[in-house]
Amino acid sequence: MTNWTQNSGSGDAPKSNAITDVACPFCGLVCDDLELARDENGLRVTKNGCEKAIAGFERKVDGAKPQVDGRDVDLETAIRAATELIRKSALPLYGGLGTDVNGIRSVMALADKSGGVVDHALSEGQYRNFRVLQTRGWIMTTLTEARNRADVFVVVGSDLHKLHPRFFERIVNVEQSLVFEQPPKRTVVFIGKGLDQSAVKGPRIGEIITLGCDLDRVGEVVAALAAEARGTPVTVDNVAGVPIAQIRDLLERCQKAHYPVFAWAPPSLNFPNADLVVSTVSDLVKELNVKGRAAGLALGGNEGAISAGAVASWQSGYPLRVSFASGKPDYDFTRYAIPKMLANGEGDLLVWLASFTPDLGPPATKIPTIVLGTPGIKLATPPAVFIPVGTPGVDHGGRIIRVDNVVSLPLRNLGRSNLPKAADIFAAIELAL
Ligand code: SF4
Repeated sequence: MTNWTQNSGSGDAPKSNAITDVACPFCGLVCDDLELARDENGLRVTKNGCEKAIAGFERKVDGAKPQVDGRDVDLETAIRAATELIRKSALPLYGGLGTDVNGIRSVMALADKSGGVVDHALSEGQYRNFRVLQTRGWIMTTLTEARNRADVFVVVGSDLHKLHPRFFERIVNVEQSLVFEQPPKRTVVFIGKGLDQSAVKGPRIGEIITLGCDLDRVGEVVAALAAEARGTPVTVDNVAGVPIAQIRDLLERCQKAHYPVFAWAPPSLNFPNADLVVSTVSDLVKELNVKGRAAGLALGGNEGAISAGAVASWQSGYPLRVSFASGKPDYDFTRYAIPKMLANGEGDLLVWLASFTPDLGPPATKIPTIVLGTPGIKLATPPAVFIPVGTPGVDHGGRIIRVDNVVSLPLRNLGRSNLPKAADIFAAIELAL
C-alpha cells in the first residue's frame, strides 16, 4: 500500500520552540530568514514575517475532515471516491495546482495516467512572460544579482509591495553588497500611477521618481523609452500623460547607470495584450545592453506557480496548459486554459489543488469537483470530494522553486498539523486507477 496515510507531524519537524532560518512558501520570493516560535497555541512568526507570512503560518487548520458529498468520511473512503470519479472521467481537468515540486510531480503523473489537462490557477499572468520567452527571448537577472548589483530599479506598472511585501526590504534597501564595499544609494522609478511606494525607504534609497501614467498605458511609456533608446525620437510632447522630457531623463539615467533592473509582476499587468508590455520591456533591456548592462526581473509566481511551470516543462516539455488526452503531451496555451475550457463546457471533472492559501478556491462549475485544499479554502459550490491537505513548509517538508527560477529551496516540516501531503494522495489515486 502506498504512503498516503496522515503525515505523522514528526519527521523533520523541529522539537524546540524557537525555529530559525525558516523558508516562507507564501509568495514567490520564498524569503528564508524567518523566525517562528511554537507553543500550545500553535505557530507564531516572531521575526522577518510580513502580513502574508503571518496569515499563512499562524492560520489554524485543526479539525478539517475529508468529505464525500458533504458528509465526513475517513481518508481512505475519500481517496476511493476520488479515484472512482477520475476513473469514470473522460477528460479530467487538473487546476489550481497551488503546491510544491513534489505535489506538481504527482499531478503530472496522475494527469498522464488519466488523460487529463494540467493548468495552474495563475497561468494567465505567467503566460504574459512565457509568450515573450518562447517567441523573442530576454535578458533577465536574479534576485541575488539585483540585490547586489543594481543601481537603478524601474518598477513597470506593478504593485510589487502588495504581491511581495518584503521585496523592497530584501532586495532594494539592503545594507550590504557582495560587490560594493560602500554600497551606493539606489534610484527607484515607478512607471504607473498609484503604486504602493510605502516600503521604499531606508539608507540605500536615493531618489524616488514616478512617471504617472494610467497602469493600462505603461506599455506606451516603455515603448517610447525603447524607441528613444533605438535612436528613433518620439515626436509628441507627452506619452500617456508623461512629458517626453521625463521619459528622456529616465532613459539617460538608465544609460548612465551600471546596472538598471526593470521589475514587473505579470499578475499586475492585468489588461488586454499585456504580454506586449513584457515584450517591449525586453526589447528595451536588449537595447540598453548594446552599450551597457541592464536586465529584467519578473516577479509574481505566488501559489507555487513557478514550481508548477518548471515541473510541467521538465516532465512534459511544455510550461503548463498541457493535455494528456491523446496519450502524449499536447500543448496549446489557448485551448488548454482551464477557465476557458470550463466556460466552453469542456471537461467532465475538475480536480483542484490549493495547499497554500484559502483564497485559491476553485471556480464555480456544474461539473463534479474534487478539491484537495488547505482547510478553510473558499468553495463556491460543495465539491463531490474534499480532502484537506497540509501546506508544504508548514505541515510537512517539501521543495519550492523561487520566482527567479534559479533556486529551489527546501521547505521544512514545522509540525503544525498531521494533514497529509497532496503528493501522497495523488500517488495513492494513481496507484489505484
Ligand atoms: S515577502 Fe513573501 S516570501 Fe517573504 S515573508 Fe512575505 S510572503 Fe513570505
